[in-house]
Amino acid sequence: MPSDRIVEIDTNHLWHPYGAFPASTGPLVVESAEGARLTLADGTELVDGMSSWWSAIHGYRNPVLDAAVTDQLGRMSHVMFGGLTHAPAARLAELLVQITPEGLDKVFLADSGSVSVEVAIKMCLQFWRSTGRPEKHRLLTWRGGYHGDTFAPMSVCDPDGGMHSMWTDVLVQQVFAPAPPRDFDPVYVAEFERIVVEHRDELAAVIVEPVVQGAGGMRFHHPDYLRELRRMCDEHGLLLVFDEIATGFGRTGELFAADHAGVTPDVMCVGKALTGGYLTLAATLCKESIAETISAGPGGGIMHGPTFMANPMACAVAAAAVELLLARDWRAEVSALNEGLERGLAPARDVPGVADVRVLGGVGVIELSDPVDMQSATDAAVASGVWLRPFRNLIYAMPPYVCSVDEVDRIAAGMVAAAHSQV
Ligand code: PLP
Repeated sequence: MPSDRIVEIDTNHLWHPYGAFPASTGPLVVESAEGARLTLADGTELVDGMSSWWSAIHGYRNPVLDAAVTDQLGRMSHVMFGGLTHAPAARLAELLVQITPEGLDKVFLADSGSVSVEVAIKMCLQFWRSTGRPEKHRLLTWRGGYHGDTFAPMSVCDPDGGMHSMWTDVLVQQVFAPAPPRDFDPVYVAEFERIVVEHRDELAAVIVEPVVQGAGGMRFHHPDYLRELRRMCDEHGLLLVFDEIATGFGRTGELFAADHAGVTPDVMCVGKALTGGYLTLAATLCKESIAETISAGPGGGIMHGPTFMANPMACAVAAAAVELLLARDWRAEVSALNEGLERGLAPARDVPGVADVRVLGGVGVIELSDPVDMQSATDAAVASGVWLRPFRNLIYAMPPYVCSVDEVDRIAAGMVAAAHSQV
């Protein structure tokens, strides 16, 4: 189909994420992708600074992942998971239990990140119901968070100007604490603990994005906060949930952000890079004690079971993506991203209107004082041969781990050009 026809149909009929009709900007038509590059219909090649929303860590058309999908397609593309099981799900579960923090050994295979957070929240509420404490049904979280677009995750997203703040009146009212500062601050911890104590009788769990708060503002914080959360949850009778959907699989420089602190949460969500960005799959892991309590409770099991749970193609490519990650020197790859972003983003500090430049693991952020004009910032990046998706006052990148030094330099230069375009 010619690309102008694709754009015409798209513009008339297709919703895009957070999109509107008529769309304020036309989408770019991607024809193919390979390694860290996207090729547009007009032949333009862009280095992908986004890894398709942080998922395609191994790059596109990876031969091992391509083969995992086609091999599985030759056996079965899907089969229900109620009463049936299969090798791809078993292999993936075994891998996830091995590589996630010690003690997380029950795995729910959800079909998206948001659903895995739904399941995590349901697990926590069902756990307390099963112990005869249904009044423990609220969640405590940090402001500035993002956990997905369905209603339970929305209720723990940033309530102040976050993308779901228009829904506050119809969402379950959760308890919010300030987002942690970047450096460790005992005064902040004391204030957080005061909130925990005030609400502990009605709180089921604390849910946070560890080390990096992503789509709520790309903020970083000291891993010692995670140790304090673990201590407080143990002392005050709350479950601890880490949403590692954005941070998992090496992005922050450790395999999981929890590993920076050596902390095991009670429940953990992973997604995005789980399948190397090939297919839609996420997972909610929990401790055995939680699974046992839920199973012995009134529901007799976890009350969730989507049609496409544990899709065999998604599980097969996820198992292959995890094995590939472990076989590669991912630490060296992420540290090369880190060095390249540090080096390449340094000039952004001198651009007028830039409030902060920060890099952690394979995450690079330019924060502006004012909101970004998305179109001009994206145009500037595209003119530099880079695909970026700025939002709010943030120009950021989470590149594929397979980027060459030149490609990382190009991404950083594209981010700096996007910052210049806002002056
Ligand atoms: N949790 C976090 C931390 C995320 O970053 C995201 C997506 O950006 C989600 C949950 C939702 O995942 P999905 O978009 O796969 O539903």
